[in-house]
Order: sequence, then structure tokens, then C-alpha cells
Amino acid sequence: MKLDITKGIQRKGIDVPFALTDVWGEDRWNGDTVAYVRPVSLSGTYMLADETVIVRGVARAAIESPCSRCLRPTVTQVEAAFEEAFARDTGEPRQADDDLYMYSGHVLELDEAVRTALLLEMPSRVLCKEDCRGLCSQCGADLNVHACSCQKDLNHSNPFSALASLLNEDEEV
Ligand SMILES: [Zn+2]
Ligand SMILES: [Zn+2]
Repeated sequence: MKLDITKGIQRKGIDVPFALTDVWGEDRWNGDTVAYVRPVSLSGTYMLADETVIVRGVARAAIESPCSRCLRPTVTQVEAAFEEAFARDTGEPRQADDDLYMYSGHVLELDEAVRTALLLEMPSRVLCKEDCRGLCSQCGADLNVHACSCQKDLNHSNPFSALASLLNEDEEV
């Protein structure tokens, strides 16, 4: 996602509106592979103050990641306020703790800043639905689709296993 700041260079101190979209593929987040399933957008304004470019706007994306309970691919709509300063790269050595974004020429590369802003807005646990029942920890069955018998066996210890098998026979009739 590249922002051409030619207009801003000609009009320093003026907010210049812009709107960008870009198609991104897969990414890594929280140990999972995630995917940007629609074009990522950033719209807002930028302004040149001396040689530093201030970019303000809103970033939007639809990010698909596994449900943290059942692993089903789940799309989260993410909207992030964006405000970053980009310093012109003068080629001079910089301090190691200086985490300013840099640019050179008349084009800003925004990918890393936009990505960081978006992923900060992701919920720590993505759920396919509020009451996702998740996977059975014993047999791995998706409990949203069908109940397995593991939980039953766990609750009803030996004295009841005869009853459980009776019930199972009933179900089969
Ligand atoms: Zn789920
Ligand atoms: Zn099970």
C-alpha cells in the first residue's frame, strides 16, 4: 500500500485527502495463519510538516482466522484508527530505539504501519459464534455439529455404563 505524497510536497502544512486499497494475502497472527479476505483499505488525510509526513485515517480489513474453540475459519471485520508519522530518510545514522517509520522520495510504504494497526484491533480470542461449543478434548469431534459420547462416559462412571449402553440401544431402534 503506497501513498504518493507529491501533492503534499507542493502544499506543505495542508491536509491532503487520500483513499487507498490493496490486496493482501496470508499473514501470521497469534501463532495462526490468517488471511485478508477482502482488499485492505486506508482512507484519511496526510500532511507534510517540514519533512515529516503525518498520516491520519481509518484502516479497514476483513481478516479470516481460526475460531479459538473449534478452529472453523472465521472472518472478523476490523477497523483501526490510524495515525503515524513518517520521517524522511536522510541517510544519516539513526538511534536504535527510534521506531519512527521512514520514507524516501515521494512515496510512503504504509503496509507495515497499517498491518500493525489492524492486528492490534483483533480480539485476543476469535470465536465463530458467542456460544461456540468447541472441539471435544478427547475425540476432537466438533461439538457444534454433533455431541460425542466422551462427556457422557466421563460423567457416568462404571455403575452407569450399563444404563448408557441401554440408552444407546434405544437410540438405535
Ligand atoms: Zn467455533
Ligand atoms: Zn468426544
